[in-house]
Amino acid sequence: MIIKILTMFPEILEPVYRIPLIRRLLDQGEWSVQIIDIREYVPGSFRHIDDSPYGGGAGMIIRAEPVLKALKSVRTDLSHTVFLTPAGIPYDQRKAHELSEKKELVLICGHYEGIDARILPDVDECISIGDYILSGGETAALVILDSICRLQQGVIRSESIREESFEAPLLEYPQYTHPRVYEGREVPEVLLSGDHEKICKWRLKEALRVTLKYRPDLLDRECSEEEKQLLKELEEE
Ligand code: SAM
Repeated sequence: MIIKILTMFPEILEPVYRIPLIRRLLDQGEWSVQIIDIREYVPGSFRHIDDSPYGGGAGMIIRAEPVLKALKSVRTDLSHTVFLTPAGIPYDQRKAHELSEKKELVLICGHYEGIDARILPDVDECISIGDYILSGGETAALVILDSICRLQQGVIRSESIREESFEAPLLEYPQYTHPRVYEGREVPEVLLSGDHEKICKWRLKEALRVTLKYRPDLLDRECSEEEKQLLKELEEE
């Protein structure tokens, strides 16, 4: 996959090369990440990238011209172009799967009060990583790259992805590792039993327990018969 990130602050994106799974994809030649400095596309030596908003209001708006010039210089027929903005569709694991299948992804990062809306006809979709305001789209780009690199074939065992939070779609069950007892806190007995069927059932029940507590909205769907039975048991506890 080829990833091109348009930004006014390339230095904020340097950690991308230090995320271990991304590093591995880069080293294997499976991924290429190009960071494009929008400032390079501002005409003239003054490099005037932003201006005050028409209609008045606080803050500065990044001008459409340098962003569109930068975009046109890197976009190809394969590009899927995403503008990162709080006004986009909410990012989730389903969207991460969708983006992970693209051949070429172009991410546009805004800053200040955002970018002139006239870039929108050149964008395939607008994505928000959550209901809060970041100072710039670079951290949102890192979130997206981190989440999609895990979904590239061969990076992580597909079995382990299937069992993760949001995949089921449930939050993940609690996990434990050695030692068996830590400061009086014991690993649940069933996990030591070696009984695969019992362990699966326990994990599903605990996943339902966590989901009910933190994300009951994920259960607003047709549950399986097994899930219904376990939810009933949880109600009766
Ligand atoms: N004035 C904008 C608004 O109210 O929607 C917020 C601008 S924000 C301070 C600057 C830039 O950060 C945005 O253009 C966008 O690229 C990025 N950004 C901020 N929050 C974001 C979020 N939740 N998801 C994706 N990008 C975000």
